[in-house]
Amino acid sequence: MPDEPCPACNGTGLTEHEEHTVELDENGNQKPVVHRWTGACNTCHGSGQG
Ligand SMILES: [Zn+2]
Repeated sequence: MPDEPCPACNGTGLTEHEEHTVELDENGNQKPVVHRWTGACNTCHGSGQG
């Protein structure tokens, strides 16, 4: 395997993740919620290697 940086995270091993879910508010109404976090790259699993 060539020792090149992962193109998805530029070798950092970290990427922005975004997850869309539907949750219930205090009135029992469905509302769309977006969760964002920085975590291990899904492409290289945090290794930073492409
Ligand atoms: Zn990566």
